Amino acid sequence: MDLTTLERLPLWIGGKPAAAHTKRYGEVTNPATGEVVRHVPLADGADVDAAVAAADAAFPAWRAHPPLRRARILMRFRELMDAQRKDLAKIITQEHGKTLADAEGEVTRGIEVIEFAMGIPHLLKGEFSENVGTGVDSYSLRQPLGVCAGITPFNFPAMVPLWMFPVAIACGNTFVLKPSERDPTLALRMGELLQEAGLPDGVYNVVHGDKEAVDALLAHPTVRAVSFVGSTPIAKYIYETGARHGKRVQALGGAKNHAVVLPDADLDFATEAIIGAGYGSAGERCMAISAVVAVGEAGDPFVKKLAERARQVTVGPGESDVEMGPVITSAARDRIQGYIDKGCAEGASLVVDGRNPKVAGHEAGFFVGPTLFDRVQPHMAIYRDEIFGPVLSVLRAESLTDAIALINANPYANGTAIFTRSGHAARKFQQDVEVGMVGVNVPIPVPMAFYSFGGWRASLFGDLNVHGMDGVRFYTRGKTLTTRWPDDGSAAPGFHMPMLG
Ligand code: NAD
Repeated sequence: MDLTTLERLPLWIGGKPAAAHTKRYGEVTNPATGEVVRHVPLADGADVDAAVAAADAAFPAWRAHPPLRRARILMRFRELMDAQRKDLAKIITQEHGKTLADAEGEVTRGIEVIEFAMGIPHLLKGEFSENVGTGVDSYSLRQPLGVCAGITPFNFPAMVPLWMFPVAIACGNTFVLKPSERDPTLALRMGELLQEAGLPDGVYNVVHGDKEAVDALLAHPTVRAVSFVGSTPIAKYIYETGARHGKRVQALGGAKNHAVVLPDADLDFATEAIIGAGYGSAGERCMAISAVVAVGEAGDPFVKKLAERARQVTVGPGESDVEMGPVITSAARDRIQGYIDKGCAEGASLVVDGRNPKVAGHEAGFFVGPTLFDRVQPHMAIYRDEIFGPVLSVLRAESLTDAIALINANPYANGTAIFTRSGHAARKFQQDVEVGMVGVNVPIPVPMAFYSFGGWRASLFGDLNVHGMDGVRFYTRGKTLTTRWPDDGSAAPGFHMPMLG
């Protein structure tokens, strides 16, 4: 099946493409051209029922697969993903808009989670204690939950689903993915590759859609756990609704990531790092830097350097040799430009204006150029809200202590970074800052697959982060066994609390 030419996308149920029951369809647009490239079904309750039923039917046999055999299927999947990375990147660029190099980068980061999940025989090992009492042994193990669901955002159509399902299925669960309806094709392509890798039918399923499909998943009695990544209001809704329906939920939300620049920092190094972290993928990364806190005398020279570099950032379609592509939709472009208007109205100083850039031959594309504000105040909308576009706000702080206080007062707490040459300052920062992921001279401190990813406060609802050991814990539940094999004639336990020793 050549998914790139399909006008109407199917669902993926029971190991093959499935026609949707719904009559509602949405449009998938190429953000660089504004053209509709395909139509995506917006699944209804019947579609969700069909996907969950396929996942439920596949669960008993899949959980009985030895973890080593599950790992071998993931190894083959990893090889296929790796071999296809350029083609996968093309699909991402066409539907999302990010540059090809960036799209390939996200496929690579996703592959790393598959590589982590390939270690599942080791990751699922439990504990064993001999003779916790006379003739009594105790051991712990982890078992899969059943049908798990993943609901993912538009900004990483490969990587974020890959944060979830490789770990979930490696643990012995079956999975229903509801990818973003804005760039849904990668989820289907991964279904094909999983099939080719030998995954049994029904272990991985895809329902496309919007709130209707999500609500059906959240209320479905067979779905045991829900992983969500997206904006904070929806994350909160998912967490509360899923929990009300008795499900285990991890819901990762939005962000406002600060980079603190101290006067002793290498300002050229910090400029390159922050320009990439602020404007890469058009600022549509949950770990993008959107607020720079320039401390003391770092302020004026640093803003000058940022402005010079921001003006040089090349903008155009992701297939061409540029640093930054378009944003996802015309609505996103208008919203981001509206924030730039607001920033000006609220009195921030607009140093570089990215509104309405000219991209020759792509006049209908959804482009916003790199935008830089200075002298931003904490009460301004451009600071308070997640803009999710190529807009950097510089705030000034007197001291590192003030910078940390500013960050800790922000409702979001996904990632943050400090730029300094002082180990002492860096240590104070990493100790006192109340944020889930922290970088020291590293602008986007995304943890590797064998660590876990997650923010604090409004950036994550739930107790466990994604991938790494938290992922294994999220997709399994623990069981502790206490066993005795008495010879005939040994005394049975009495009425009192047993004292095994
Ligand atoms: P979004 O919240 O609009 O959508 C995320 C998912 O929720 C999609 O699958 C969408 O179909 C579904 N959805 C949308 N509205 C819904 C509703 N009313 N009810 C139920 N489901 C609904 O997010 P987005 O615009 O696709 O992605 C960008 C957001 O995701 C940003 O806020 C970004 O910070 C966040 N994000 C966070 C992380 C993280 O790790 N914390 C990672 C990537 C993206």
